[in-house]
Amino acid sequence: MQGNLNVQTENIFPVIKKFLYSDHEIFLRELVSNAVDATQKLKALASRGELKGDTGDLTIEVEVNEKKKTLTVKDRGIGMTAEEVEKYINQIAFSGATDFMDKYKDVQENLIGHFGLGFYSAFMVADKVEIISKSYKDEPAVHWSCKGEPQFEMEEDKKRTERGTDIILHIADDCKEFLDEQQVLQLLRKYCRFMPIAIRFGEESTWVDQAMPGDNNSDGADESEKKTKRVEKKQPRIVNDTEPAWKKAPANLTDEDYKKFYHELYPMNFEDPLFQIHLNVDYPFNLTGILYFPKVRKTIDPNRNKIQLYCNQVFVTDSVEGVVPDYLMLLHGVLDSPDIPLNVSRSYLQSDSNVKKIASHISKKVADKLEEMSKSKTENGKSKGENSADAETTNPDNSQSSTFNSQLEEQWDDIKIFVEYGMLTDEKFCERAMKFALLKNTEGKFFNLKDYREKIAPLQTDKDKNVCYLYASDAEEQHAYIAKAKAKGYDVLLMDSVLTPHWINLLEQKVEKSRFVRVDADTVEKLIPHDDAIPEKMSKEDQEKLKPLIEAELDKQKYTVQMESMESDDAPMQVTQSEFMRRYREMAMTSGGGMGFYGEMPESYNLVVNVNHPLVEQVLAETDADKQKQLIHQLTDLALLANGLLKGEALTQFVKRSTEILGK
Ligand code: ADP
Repeated sequence: MQGNLNVQTENIFPVIKKFLYSDHEIFLRELVSNAVDATQKLKALASRGELKGDTGDLTIEVEVNEKKKTLTVKDRGIGMTAEEVEKYINQIAFSGATDFMDKYKDVQENLIGHFGLGFYSAFMVADKVEIISKSYKDEPAVHWSCKGEPQFEMEEDKKRTERGTDIILHIADDCKEFLDEQQVLQLLRKYCRFMPIAIRFGEESTWVDQAMPGDNNSDGADESEKKTKRVEKKQPRIVNDTEPAWKKAPANLTDEDYKKFYHELYPMNFEDPLFQIHLNVDYPFNLTGILYFPKVRKTIDPNRNKIQLYCNQVFVTDSVEGVVPDYLMLLHGVLDSPDIPLNVSRSYLQSDSNVKKIASHISKKVADKLEEMSKSKTENGKSKGENSADAETTNPDNSQSSTFNSQLEEQWDDIKIFVEYGMLTDEKFCERAMKFALLKNTEGKFFNLKDYREKIAPLQTDKDKNVCYLYASDAEEQHAYIAKAKAKGYDVLLMDSVLTPHWINLLEQKVEKSRFVRVDADTVEKLIPHDDAIPEKMSKEDQEKLKPLIEAELDKQKYTVQMESMESDDAPMQVTQSEFMRRYREMAMTSGGGMGFYGEMPESYNLVVNVNHPLVEQVLAETDADKQKQLIHQLTDLALLANGLLKGEALTQFVKRSTEILGK
């Protein structure tokens, strides 16, 4: 029989080739998933007792034959009768796809490329395609072939008696890579790795110990002394794992199983994940998957170990923008949902209501997990019950002593970046996280926001009733400032994340009457201004005399001299940097755009002079101009040194000068 394909556009084949050019490797996924579908339908029939005889071995086979230039996908599924080939293959309802492509001609790059063209995607790589199929029904086999033109041939295949379907692709000359075994293997591993029916592709060798034939049995030698040799054994290569962990019940998985699956997903990543969340929802949408929290390194490569999106165990994409909330894009793992539309543009995807629901569900689950971790205690730093799943409820035991860290505390340093970013970008998540987000002080102790505020409020409330949170971004560099604040009885937080400036800005908005100040933002008296000012020993007149002398020794662009009344045993001079300027500058540097103005401002500091310090009085009293100059220079240098600002030649000169002074 000959006939014309029932498509609306005469030349649909060039269209297929052209439009799907960038993604044409997906033909393999389409054909193998058709084979999987046909096999699952057969299994369903068998389980209902509607199949005569045995199912037999249902392994799907993929074969390449370089000589014949063919790639074949074989299954032992339900097969098709001639009538079914006519109905499902010949009468393709292509109008939908044609319209779709017409409409999106201009926005080609937006196409996600998953058209569900199914069987016809074979023509992206083949110039002739054959179908040989025998239905499970008692009907003759059928042989169909088409050369990428709107004509096809179809006849009875008298030879074939075995149930199932062979799809034979005669690979086009410009697509030879699909005849290369390694390339095809790679594609199968990418798209078919977790399909639910075993897929065989060629053979692989394993090395096994085999007993050597010979006389070693005659002298009664012990079993272990038997001579063996390593021999290569060929066996069918199965490219997929038909029962991936995310499809299993969380109760049946141990932490080790989760880790094993993680390494199966990312064989090139040797580090263990921190913990995971097993998703398992069936209403109002269907979603399964496992999300892993990785250890975030200093350098993040967002293109490695990305979250993979599956549709019923068929790989779809690893571009999960929109499906996964932004702040979770750095997580690893898999998501599987038949409810995510796969054949549309990305902008459509983001406005799809199911996709939105999925994204907010994921966000909620992450918040649940973190909250649960904040309540569960660990012993000796070892976490207990790390796996949580939708189905599980945990019963946190709060009665244990506080010397045990919570799981969240254990992991905080590694995951705070997710929490901070999530709070900054996701309103709902932020609301939840306000309850469990942690602050860590320079002694390594953790507090939630509420407890911390209560702890510091008595000493660290300023005259305007603001609770002042003091923080350091580097405990080493800001050591002198931290020590001074602690000496006053203040507590100092350690906030060293790249998002710190943005995050504290957010906290100041969320928590009324709160102010974050870095320890080096001001002198310790002024960090938290109270009403009780220290009386000045030096007259205003003298201060006015002294100020220009000090200014003369400094870079005016960079330093502003401030005369202040401090404790006489505080440093004679010190360098501070305004919280506001520094924070906005840092925010501009980490956010780009919009705040550029702040980023371009030069760094500026205050040089604060303690007018009550005896050495400062001595400077004023000095009558020898040279000596006075030297003393000022020495004092300003010391202040810069304490802040890590004395560098290069200035530092060399300082060391030299100091040595000379000691020798006098
Ligand atoms: P889709 O899979 O999206 O329905 P396809 O063009 O891939 O679209 O396939 C059309 C139909 O052809 C399938 O729905 C199925 O009925 C039939 N078919 C395709 N491949 C096979 C196969 N290997 N075995 C049995 N039937 C198949």
